[in-house]
Amino acid sequence: MIRITDILDRISAYHPEADLALVERAYIYSARIHEGQVRLSGEPYLSHPLEVAGLLTELKLGPVSIAAGLLHDTLEDTKATMDDLTELFGEPVTDIVKGVTKLSGLAFRSSEAHQAENIRKMILAMADDIRVILIKLCDRLHNMRTLQFQKEKKQIKIAQETLDIYAPLANRLGIYWIRTELEDIAFKYLFPHQYREVVNQVAKKKDEQQEYINTIRKSIETKMADADLPCEVQGRHKHFYGIYQKMMNQDVDFEEVYDIIAFRIILDTVPQCYQAIGIIHSIWKPIPKRFKDFIGIPKPNMYQSLHTTVIGPLGERVEIQIRTREMDRIARDGIAAHWQYKEDSAFDQKTGAAFTWLRELVEEQKNLKDPDEFMESVRIELFPDEVYVFTPRGDVLALPKAATPVDFAYAIHTEVGNQCTGAKVDGRMVPLKYELKTGERVEIITSSNHQPSKDWLNFVKTARARSRVRQHIKAEERKLSLTLGREMCDKVLRKYHVSLKKFLKSHEIEKAVHDLGYKTADDLIAGVGYGKVTPLQVARYLLPRAEIKDEKETIVTRLRDRIRGRKAKSGILVRGVNDILVRFANCCHPLPGDPVVGYITRGQGVTVHRTSCPHSLSIDPERRIELQWAPETEEVYPVRIHVLCHDRIGLLANITAAISQGQANILDASVNTRADKRADCYFTISVSGADHLENVIKLVDKIRHVIKVARLAA
Ligand code: MN
Repeated sequence: MIRITDILDRISAYHPEADLALVERAYIYSARIHEGQVRLSGEPYLSHPLEVAGLLTELKLGPVSIAAGLLHDTLEDTKATMDDLTELFGEPVTDIVKGVTKLSGLAFRSSEAHQAENIRKMILAMADDIRVILIKLCDRLHNMRTLQFQKEKKQIKIAQETLDIYAPLANRLGIYWIRTELEDIAFKYLFPHQYREVVNQVAKKKDEQQEYINTIRKSIETKMADADLPCEVQGRHKHFYGIYQKMMNQDVDFEEVYDIIAFRIILDTVPQCYQAIGIIHSIWKPIPKRFKDFIGIPKPNMYQSLHTTVIGPLGERVEIQIRTREMDRIARDGIAAHWQYKEDSAFDQKTGAAFTWLRELVEEQKNLKDPDEFMESVRIELFPDEVYVFTPRGDVLALPKAATPVDFAYAIHTEVGNQCTGAKVDGRMVPLKYELKTGERVEIITSSNHQPSKDWLNFVKTARARSRVRQHIKAEERKLSLTLGREMCDKVLRKYHVSLKKFLKSHEIEKAVHDLGYKTADDLIAGVGYGKVTPLQVARYLLPRAEIKDEKETIVTRLRDRIRGRKAKSGILVRGVNDILVRFANCCHPLPGDPVVGYITRGQGVTVHRTSCPHSLSIDPERRIELQWAPETEEVYPVRIHVLCHDRIGLLANITAAISQGQANILDASVNTRADKRADCYFTISVSGADHLENVIKLVDKIRHVIKVARLAA
């Protein structure tokens, strides 16, 4: 087990002015609060945070990160609270520990390939600070190093997750040594047989390889010395998982993987690197298309080097990387290299401009004295346009920023979207236009007879949701127009003793369709329903002109004539027209028992308003229709209520419980807290009628601390 004194020594070696007292205090606190806890290995728990802190010193991080590393499990596994940590170690340390704890709390269902990228992005987006990820990676590395103490099933699960999520994260951040070690340990547990084979083969050839490495190195060193280029030459075999991947990708045996040894030439300056590559190509013949200039065009994770593959002295392929010392440091530590405490700050100015996704951030960092400020901007800039949320099964979905539960529902399935009536986020009801945030768990409440609403178009963010809602509304409108159009044509034709059926089979219909500018008979009939064509215009094609009486008919008068004494499914007596679409106005939400009035719309059936609704007064008398409620309906209707209450914990739960006790469903809920410790709660609930609503209101009113309950007019 690494000792705290080793850690302190290392920090003062690379950062002489560091606040070691902070690290020491974190150590003492961690030791005390983890006291009595043991790891599966039998070691005291403290060994884990100490090892993690030790790994963080290998990344040369500052005292804040090291202290956070020592404390990283205290919030999750001990009685320590956020307030305790803030008081003792300040906010920067506490925020990082909080971030690590939050990541540990995420429960992913699987790390399957199609999920892995979303999970990685969610982890990056959830971290308030890139140092949170670095601690998480060191935490994972130590847990992998001690994986033998876990049960086999858990070993497999953790190793798979490491290979799918954490090793690629380390790679994305450019931390080569963490990535390769994570991959090798995961390889060992996931493919034990293949792992042993690769390890044995490498060991078998060890002496032979060492001799080979020495030969090549000597050749390079001599030539470089001739050219007066001081350099360091390293030769070593690739990591085991890398060799295995090569075998798999090229579908070859170990013997056939020639380039398992990679050589690296480290120089002082960039011009020296280009000079060196010229010398290498003059000794050995380069393989065409294998030369890559990552100095001129760095990789997205900031990696820079010149790569080439040449034909070596034995006719074998030799991979060579050429780079400066600074580039080598970045290749090893990646993003961590950016805030390693170094005396010379020349590094950032020299190489900063070459980085791609970090370039602008690094430029910004020059103006920032506070590294935490820099980290904050990393978080915001990484994926500014997306949010990552969980499905109830634990899958991660990527959605555009400010996406709503409706977008989520359509992303799951079109039917889930179409039937979406409400949503829960982390277990609590939210309005459908709620803006989802990364890390939230979303559950959609569906109802099989529910229809998408036109209002959704005002807030959905995904093209998919938008087009599906439009599609549905269009289909519904057409269905309705077709029904309405049929009724209207039928009525006119009946007067002349012709059935619509017969008309639709006649030759005249084709002429009517063509002349009136439609494609099919259905289109034409729907056009009648929309009010674009009158049924009389259609009827003329079948009937001799003389037969048609000059009636002063309008669509509305005709419809009104038909509306007499039949009961529609909607629970309202819309007399006459079968299956006509009845819509309940969104402005006043009429309930059975309320006095109501109907408005005959163009192409959209009848809209029902309460007689007290301001809109009902402005209805064109021509289009106004008296309506009655059908007795005994099983339909439910949405209504909005307002609850004014004192702001106390648990009250919202009591109110929702009372509403369900009253047999009403909550479709939408929102709460606004006022400055005076009161809260305004708004619910949209579904009830069967005015009496039912009365009953629910009484139940809510009885709750202690509820001041007032009222139905909202609009
Ligand atoms: Mn841990």
